[in-house]
Amino acid sequence: SKIWGFENEKVLDYMPGSKERMELKRALQSLKEEVLEIPLIIGGKEVRTGNMGQCIIPHNNKKVIARYHMAGEAEVKMAIQSALEAKREWEKLHWEHRVAIFMKAAELASTSWRARINAATMLCQGKTFIQAEIDSACEMIDFLRYNARCIYEIYSEQPMSAKGTWNRMEYRPLEGFVFAVSPFNFTAIGCNLATAPAICGNVVLWKPSSDAVYSSYMVFKLLQEAGLPDGVINFIPGSGGIIGNMVLSHESLAGVHYTGSTEVFRTMWKNVANNLDKYRTFPRLVGETGGKDYIFAHNSANIDALVASMIRGAFEYQGQKCSAASRAYIPRSIWPEVKEKLVRDIKTIKVGDVEDFGNFMGAVINQKAFNTIKGYIDYAKESNEAEIIIGGNCDDSVGYFVEPTVIATTNPYFKTMVEEIFGPVITVYVYEDEDFEDIIKICDKTSPYGLTGAIFARDRYAIAKLEEELTHNAGNFYINDKPTGAVVGQQPFGGARASGTNDKAGSKYNLLRWMSPRTIKENL
Ligand code: GLU
Repeated sequence: SKIWGFENEKVLDYMPGSKERMELKRALQSLKEEVLEIPLIIGGKEVRTGNMGQCIIPHNNKKVIARYHMAGEAEVKMAIQSALEAKREWEKLHWEHRVAIFMKAAELASTSWRARINAATMLCQGKTFIQAEIDSACEMIDFLRYNARCIYEIYSEQPMSAKGTWNRMEYRPLEGFVFAVSPFNFTAIGCNLATAPAICGNVVLWKPSSDAVYSSYMVFKLLQEAGLPDGVINFIPGSGGIIGNMVLSHESLAGVHYTGSTEVFRTMWKNVANNLDKYRTFPRLVGETGGKDYIFAHNSANIDALVASMIRGAFEYQGQKCSAASRAYIPRSIWPEVKEKLVRDIKTIKVGDVEDFGNFMGAVINQKAFNTIKGYIDYAKESNEAEIIIGGNCDDSVGYFVEPTVIATTNPYFKTMVEEIFGPVITVYVYEDEDFEDIIKICDKTSPYGLTGAIFARDRYAIAKLEEELTHNAGNFYINDKPTGAVVGQQPFGGARASGTNDKAGSKYNLLRWMSPRTIKENL
């Protein structure tokens, strides 16, 4: 079968004077001029509850930029009903027509919506222009186009037929609706959580993170413009507890597509278990959750590459990626040079308002996150097992700013080596070179997570050893590269253990979770 080509969307560079830079600046300006009022969208109709939440700018935390209506029980009920009604037509639509909508959405995201969605991601989620570009432009477009292509591949995969029979597989959607619950840290992930089940013929209730309602709403409007029929995806921001309890106890729940904290995913899973007798089918639970991702250096590492990856892996988007590098194992023999270069380079990092394109880091997402991150830094400051190598200052007077911070500890199980912080903090454990093999074992058992990990070495035996020993603690394993920045179609993303179900976002493995195939045998 012939499959159309796929190329990753090109990352624009926003050079001074470029067209894209001017458009983005204009979009930032125009978004700030009004306080947008965001309704729920159920069955294609705007719904207003009057129970309002607000979106503020993390680097300018007195500035409200949008207010949004929050769903209550009545709206959740309405959304389930609209989804189930839309399902009848949607699942009958020939898949090429479904795919066309998402291909069109990718086209719009690449052109007319690009600046606006990037601007919303910058303002409300606190991303620099480049972090917005790789997320709400490129990754989102890649998810849409790559999933479309995977659908084609999956549907053409057919069983063998013995003589006298004809066997086939019909890749039906699930029976019921899918509940998509998205995080604040990637606009693209929200889009994928809602659209991946939909492209397979499912209907969806989408609850975006309260901190990403603005950009998620724009994504929703874009999907509508691309021709998404009413009710196929229903946009219902609001309280996770209220919405979750209702949705997860409904007999037609067929799947949960989630990215967020391990704790919330566990709660949802237990909730599903408690309701198991009510459902018509076993719901598919797909979750990508936390991480405590590492960089492990051998003494043969290229030090410049190691230092650059520690900085980019730990501090890009203020460390608010589940893939962020947050613990490092560095051999004693190279530590003095690593430390010197780390400090030298971190001193040049500019933290501030992301509307100034010269800043490398913005503010962290909200007050709660700021307090948590500061709590970890203060804990390290007060401990006699740790010292702050650089950074450590926090200031929330104007925005939620946390300096890029490196902690060194003498205890490989120190709190900040073990727990997910979700902020710009990396903890280093310096090991004796001769303990290399023992420390690999410690790295493996230090955290309950298994999302990403990076190793740095030039010695092939060391690379082989690390790769072999660290089998299950990283679903995405990087050799001589940072542990962040998986690209759709190139590094299918996800991990196991406490990091989730490892269903690899942006791949056919994920899409297969939203299908319930029927095998048909016909005697000829
Ligand atoms: N896919 C992203 C990366 O590779 C991380 C996703 C997340 O933070 O949830 O950096």
